[in-house]
Amino acid sequence: MAKRDYYEVLGVGKSANEEEIKKAYRKLALKYHPDRNPGDKSAEEKFKEVGEAYEVLSDPQKRAAYDQYGHAAFDPRARAGGAGRGGGGFGDFGGFHDPADLFREVFGGGGAESIFSQFFGESRRDPHGPAQGEDLVYELEIDFEEAALGCEKEISVAKSETCEACAGSGAEAGSGRKACPTCGGRGQVEQVVGGFMRVRQGCPRCNGSGRVIERPCRTCRGSGLVQRPSRIPVRIPAGVDNGTKLRLAGKGEAGVRGGPAGDLYVVLHVRPHDIFQREGDDLLCEVPISFVQAALGAEIEVPTLTGAAHIRIPAGTQSGTVFRLKGKGVRNVQGYGFGDLHVRVVVEVPTKLNSHQRAKLEEFAATCDSSVNPRIKSFFERAKDLFR
Ligand SMILES: [Zn+2]
Ligand SMILES: [Zn+2]
Repeated sequence: MAKRDYYEVLGVGKSANEEEIKKAYRKLALKYHPDRNPGDKSAEEKFKEVGEAYEVLSDPQKRAAYDQYGHAAFDPRARAGGAGRGGGGFGDFGGFHDPADLFREVFGGGGAESIFSQFFGESRRDPHGPAQGEDLVYELEIDFEEAALGCEKEISVAKSETCEACAGSGAEAGSGRKACPTCGGRGQVEQVVGGFMRVRQGCPRCNGSGRVIERPCRTCRGSGLVQRPSRIPVRIPAGVDNGTKLRLAGKGEAGVRGGPAGDLYVVLHVRPHDIFQREGDDLLCEVPISFVQAALGAEIEVPTLTGAAHIRIPAGTQSGTVFRLKGKGVRNVQGYGFGDLHVRVVVEVPTKLNSHQRAKLEEFAATCDSSVNPRIKSFFERAKDLFR
């Protein structure tokens, strides 16, 4: 019987790429699979034929040989005579594989279980063993002072916890375990997949363990877990900042089948302050002073996180001058001391003067010569060329 052209068998063009070839193979292999066509000799032949075609066309080396020599490239008689080899580099090719093996390979390396996975997208994670609970994230808004000075908070988190009534076993008190009636205690059931393949899978009733609870716990209905809001105290250390993430080990969702609980992450959002801004461990604060205080000097009161402090403003202080109060910033969250408080004084120019005040200022201005405002004098001297 003359062999059909491999491209024709798969119904693809000579320039088909890997993906197109695989797709064509999958479609035809499923159609002609012996499990789906029991006792049908012609289907079996077709199944073999598409397997052979795929085996050659999916392998770049074999495909190149086939493109050059046709079926003769894989003909043992031609090879024995040496005529067909011609240094084609396919001498190692030792006949075709079992089409059933090839089928399994293409539909997933692990045999029936992975064929099943491909059809149903089932996770291959071991569903029988203990599993750690999920981690949780809680977004918590706190005040500026609470972040800087530290505080204790209590948050309410809805999460699963180990059922107290059955201590997580899922069994009603005094009840034990019995063989699973669905799988007869084997832990596996057979199922028909894709309309024709029989595969074994873990029993869904007992999760593959082969045993089920005799009487499920009434509180948790046998799951061993209960959902409820739990109040969790959170200690917020001094010096945390916006975006700081606190990890509370073991405060996430409860584990299942004896697994450890997950963790709870508390992400902090710090509300801005009216007076203070923060830069790392340092605090910045702008304090207005009067122009008389700036000119004559004064002792002024400034706010800190822990109450009032006093700073001495020397006579002739300019607007924008920054005074540093050492150690009056925020405690370093890792314990490396405290930051500083930077006080920036801003001179407030009077906005409303009565006639009496105005007269006084005019009288004052009349007494001023250039030495009173040296910066003004210096500026106009440097800029005089520009005024011409
Ligand atoms: Zn079972
Ligand atoms: Zn329970």
